[in-house]
Amino acid sequence: MGARKRDSDRRIGRRALLVGGAAAAVGSAFLARDELSELYWRLPGVRKPRVEGAVDYRGARWVSASEANFRWADRPDDYGIDMIVVHVTQGGLESAVKAFQDPGHQAAAHYIVGKDGRVTQMIRELDVAYHAGNRGYNERSVGIEHEGFVDRPQDFTDVMYEASARLAAGICRRYGIPVDREHIVGHVEVPGTDHTDPGEHWDWDRYMKLVAAAHTATA
Ligand SMILES: [Zn+2]
Repeated sequence: MGARKRDSDRRIGRRALLVGGAAAAVGSAFLARDELSELYWRLPGVRKPRVEGAVDYRGARWVSASEANFRWADRPDDYGIDMIVVHVTQGGLESAVKAFQDPGHQAAAHYIVGKDGRVTQMIRELDVAYHAGNRGYNERSVGIEHEGFVDRPQDFTDVMYEASARLAAGICRRYGIPVDREHIVGHVEVPGTDHTDPGEHWDWDRYMKLVAAAHTATA
């Protein structure tokens, strides 16, 4: 934030010089402070420098989603992150990866956890993924997909629960998100959604205990 402030102050100075006159300078400074500091960093293409292939979760495989399925952003500075949304892919891991790479799919989550417990990251946590079907929830959350089908409880393996819990605990720690069901929700709980995932077979008690344990372990 410090760097941004200095940057927008510099812009104010330049603009004030161009406009000239004390009154105009005050007016444009007010506008600039209001508009630039709030909006400048939300313009398309303005984003934090990032390293190609870098991941937010150590050990995750990086496969980039199509740019059509997320919005470049600068979280948590432009949008605070205070939620995790849990999903189920309704298909296999690689078909979900392909869907998120497809610009026509219009949706993607940050992560996919496989039945084998492996984590694939497709969108940086900095960016707004289109996964919740609700703009406000997309902007404030990280989406975690799980390989499988909502009506096949056997798809939700032990290693999947454990890996997803470690991933979720790390996200909670990075952004100071409380480990509770107010902040870790299912897609079905997002207002306005017609999705039912993760479904009745997702064991929330078990998952939340694992997230809490992993969160404590990394304290
Ligand atoms: Zn979903």
